[in-house]
Amino acid sequence: MDPQMPPAHPFDDDKLKEECGIFGCVGVADAANFVALGLHALQHRGQEAGGIVSHDPEQGFNSARRFGYVRDNFTSQSLMKTLPGELAIGHVRYSTAGSKGQTQIRDVQPFFGEFSMGGAAIAHNGNITNADALRRELIERGSIFQSSSDSECIIHLMARSLQRNIPSRMEDALRRVEGAFSVIAMTRTKLIGVRDPLGVRPLVLGKIGDGYALASETCALDIIGATFVREIEPGEMVVITAEKGVESSHPFRPQPSKFCIFEHVYFSRPDSIIGGRSVYETRRQIGVELAREAPVEADLVCPVPDSGTPAAIGFAHESGIPYGMGIVRNQYMGRTFIEPTEQIRNMGVRLKLNVNRALIEGKRVILVDDSVVRGTTSRKIKEMILDAGAAEVHFRIASPPTAWPCFYGVDTPQREKLLAATMSEDEMRDHLQVDSLRFISLDGLYRAVGEAEGRNAKCPQYCDACFSGEYPVTPADMIEKGFKMKTAAE
Ligand code: SF4
Repeated sequence: MDPQMPPAHPFDDDKLKEECGIFGCVGVADAANFVALGLHALQHRGQEAGGIVSHDPEQGFNSARRFGYVRDNFTSQSLMKTLPGELAIGHVRYSTAGSKGQTQIRDVQPFFGEFSMGGAAIAHNGNITNADALRRELIERGSIFQSSSDSECIIHLMARSLQRNIPSRMEDALRRVEGAFSVIAMTRTKLIGVRDPLGVRPLVLGKIGDGYALASETCALDIIGATFVREIEPGEMVVITAEKGVESSHPFRPQPSKFCIFEHVYFSRPDSIIGGRSVYETRRQIGVELAREAPVEADLVCPVPDSGTPAAIGFAHESGIPYGMGIVRNQYMGRTFIEPTEQIRNMGVRLKLNVNRALIEGKRVILVDDSVVRGTTSRKIKEMILDAGAAEVHFRIASPPTAWPCFYGVDTPQREKLLAATMSEDEMRDHLQVDSLRFISLDGLYRAVGEAEGRNAKCPQYCDACFSGEYPVTPADMIEKGFKMKTAAE
């Protein structure tokens, strides 16, 4: 492991993790500085590494890729001076398919390719579900891969295209790609943004002065003082130049959109706007729905911080049960705190969360969390609450049971490691040894994101595969590796 690379938390493996955040801007002085700020706002989408590529007419393309947090790397003046120009893109990464646990600097994006018509850099959020097959084909035809990342396929496919300009080559390349992609790319003069035809991963457009920005989420526009213009549509490509502004096209066959519903539940920041809705407000509404679907007599509603907080506020409001911060998070628990020794590892969740004993003691407590993945953290939190003297512990979960892995750019344990894949709700309650456990229903979740009729089984408006097992894009590579899709009987 690179010495700069932060050690993972011992309890971090009990959350699904978004694998990337992307940001780019054009038409502003020192664009790389804006990109660094944008990536800092997107750090929740990936903490392992980050990279920035910039272009300046005199100095050409420059790049920097580093392990660790944006704030620890892309704040030094000496580094940022090496990234001049009015056009830059960047990427923060958790990890991508094929390289989990062994990230190398060559896997850190943006990737760069030199073509006959000039250079281009790309930053990809999502996951290509036919990457193995594409990679085999490209290698057989002479491509030499530099990384283990699925995203590099896009650069090689672009190199093989016969189109005369970079945006057309990107179109060609992305037509061969299956799965989820939001891509930000740049040439010497153009900033390019593309979303896959289903629009699984987010991408938004902002305006800053005479320039433009593209970002995974609106919170990254806010930090640089950009105005949110609109979301890039599923299947849309925008080519942005300082002279012509935004030129839009729809190069892919139109399909019903399938935005990731988990972005509403957990991945996106609560201060972002997605689908015209405040993420915070959606999460609060999930708590309201949950209180209607799964009421219980209790004395206190507590969030599991921080991601359970808006849903807990909604639950408390709807149920009339007082809200309280029964669990307090140590905000200064940085990843670089300590190399976790065995003794520290055993302390697990207590490093990060502490129980507010004075509030909890003798109370019947409802704990609201965003999801249950393996269940290991939920069990430890329950023990902490009981140790502090709670009379009862009731879990309410702001997402349906996560019973299927995600293959569209989110790190999920193998199916058999997901608690909900092997146990019913009652079995999970007994396993976690809590007084009650209830998840929001899929219909309730759809209502909370604004679909009044709930989930239309024939045409769900979102990707919800990790709950339903209904994958909108067949995960071809994983099926080849033995993954079994849901059967009619399940
Ligand atoms: S499988 Fe789940 S996490 Fe993955 S894109 Fe679909 S809803 Fe989002």
